[in-house]
Amino acid sequence: MLELTGVVKEYRIGEQPVRALDGIDLRIEAGEFTSIIGPSGSGKSTLLHLLGALDSPDSGSITFDGNEIGTLGDDAQSEFRRHRVGFVFQFFNLLPTLTAWENVAIPKLLDGKGLRKAKPRALELLDLVGLADRADHRPGEMSGGQMQRVAVARALIMDPPLILADEPTGNLDSKTGAAILELFGRIADGGTGIVMVTHDMGAVQYCDRVVTLRDGRIGSDERLTRTGRTE
Ligand code: ADP
Ligand code: ADP
Repeated sequence: MLELTGVVKEYRIGEQPVRALDGIDLRIEAGEFTSIIGPSGSGKSTLLHLLGALDSPDSGSITFDGNEIGTLGDDAQSEFRRHRVGFVFQFFNLLPTLTAWENVAIPKLLDGKGLRKAKPRALELLDLVGLADRADHRPGEMSGGQMQRVAVARALIMDPPLILADEPTGNLDSKTGAAILELFGRIADGGTGIVMVTHDMGAVQYCDRVVTLRDGRIGSDERLTRTGRTE
């Protein structure tokens, strides 16, 4: 699905450029739940941003189903993000004045269709994440785990082939976090690729694959059998 070849990314602040990614070769497959781990400053966020076309590499190529995305202009990158990627964040990023189903439907609003039109699909996705009975609740009336499940449903509403998650369990207790990781596993089993940046070593057991970054390079890349289960 996504293929990175020789990807280099530098940040220039003052005289000395910082090389955040130093020659990354990586293939992300459909239906695979991948975690990216590594010390702070190893390039995890930079990599996630490039996978989501939020930024472009300085050299190397990034292709999605064979089409180069690293060199797209701003409008084409924005289009790519809207239709090909769902984002999940550490702090949920829900709109507090909207209900759960309205938050899930929001990406459809940018399509020029009213929220109402997207309501049936939003309700289906809330059911998928186990929140069928919370559709009319606002974020302030929900727990952290429930808010994150709303955010996962929102990430799915455009039917993207890929979800990118940045520390999705970072603000949740371990049991609630485990439920989110199991949900990601089920979503991956449905054919959607998931790439998650995490500091949580316990999260690894819920994944199919663990990529370790070190100083902007891939230190290891291992496929696993998921063993994590909530009781
Ligand atoms: P991680 O997510 O693993 O902590 P990052 O991708 O955030 O790593 O950072 C990789 C390197 O790039 C670090 O040395 C960091 O200081 C640097 N870096 C990241 N973002 C920026 C930025 N916007 N400007 C300058 N340097 C940056
Ligand atoms: P547009 O360019 O059409 O305004 P955006 O880039 O704002 O679209 O949003 C496209 C997707 O990218 C959204 O799902 C949004 O949440 C995500 N996104 C935008 N900026 C960032 C960012 N800095 N970090 C992570 N995700 C972002």
